[in-house]
Amino acid sequence: MARATAAAQKKKKASKKRAAPKKGAAQKKPGLRKLKRVKKPALAAKPAKGIPDPKPTPRPTPDMSGRSLLPLNILLIGPPGAGKGTQAEKISSTFNIPHLSTGNLFRAAIKAGTELGKKVEPLLAAGKLVPDDVTIPIVDERLSQPDATQGVLFDGYPRTIPQAEALERTFERLGRKLNRVVLIEVPDSAIVARMSGRRSCPKDGSVYHVVANPPREPGKCDKCGTDLVTRPDDQPETVQGRLNTYTAQTAPLIAYYEPKGLLARVDGVRTPDQVFESIHSGLRR
Ligand code: ADP
Ligand code: ADP
Repeated sequence: MARATAAAQKKKKASKKRAAPKKGAAQKKPGLRKLKRVKKPALAAKPAKGIPDPKPTPRPTPDMSGRSLLPLNILLIGPPGAGKGTQAEKISSTFNIPHLSTGNLFRAAIKAGTELGKKVEPLLAAGKLVPDDVTIPIVDERLSQPDATQGVLFDGYPRTIPQAEALERTFERLGRKLNRVVLIEVPDSAIVARMSGRRSCPKDGSVYHVVANPPREPGKCDKCGTDLVTRPDDQPETVQGRLNTYTAQTAPLIAYYEPKGLLARVDGVRTPDQVFESIHSGLRR
């Protein structure tokens, strides 16, 4: 009986050995199972000789920047402190057109101590307009520079009807046309707060606000690190005079451009990005 049991156990062991693969065998040929025949993916058809490779033509991407609208000649008008300079920076970099700010040109001349600078300094300090016969030739000269031939963003020019008429004549002579006049509307009540908190970079003209748009490092320009300044004409007593000048001499430009179908009114009492959004969609229309 004991012998029969031993024989049965030996038989059982032998059958187990046959069923289980040898330990060593599995280690020696690890990839056996993976080497199963796999259906190869069909090869892409080779283009016939002489026929160009039929690669898909890249689809045109929508031009979100609006550069396809070039050449663009745009005017930004609005009371002092409306946000023209702030929006001008955004428009100029988005549409890749130079920013022509007569205020910045005058401030640069004052800083450089040129004849022009000496002439206009007291006018700017008092918040009075520089006479048309000084301003118009400066703009004409700037417009003739190579970077300005493919479109210009005017900020703060024209500021009087004679300046607007002069610009029209200049454009006619150059075979150019004005595409759009953007009016940024901000009530006087919001202007004084904007002007008292405005800080400007005397080097590159960048504009900040101590609350609404502070620089990363207090008092320093984000772009060039220069110390920011408060413009002398941003004192509250000068600001009211500038607003009066705007109403008397610049606001009539609205009635000048509106019948020509060029005017786009934008509500300036929103965040700078929201204002830019409206300007952007207005320009693409
Ligand atoms: P703001 O940005 O506050 O409207 P600007 O920088 O445009 O001011 O202008 C500052 C000052 O420069 C004006 O108050 C005015 O003395 C002078 N100025 C700027 N542009 C003109 C212009 N087109 N005609 C006459 N004076 C100008
Ligand atoms: P402008 O060129 O019309 O005189 P700026 O662009 O210099 O106006 O703006 C005047 C001040 O108001 C700046 O201090 C600027 O940072 C701030 N500012 C500009 N846009 C806005 C806005 N949408 N909301 C609040 N403050 C603004």
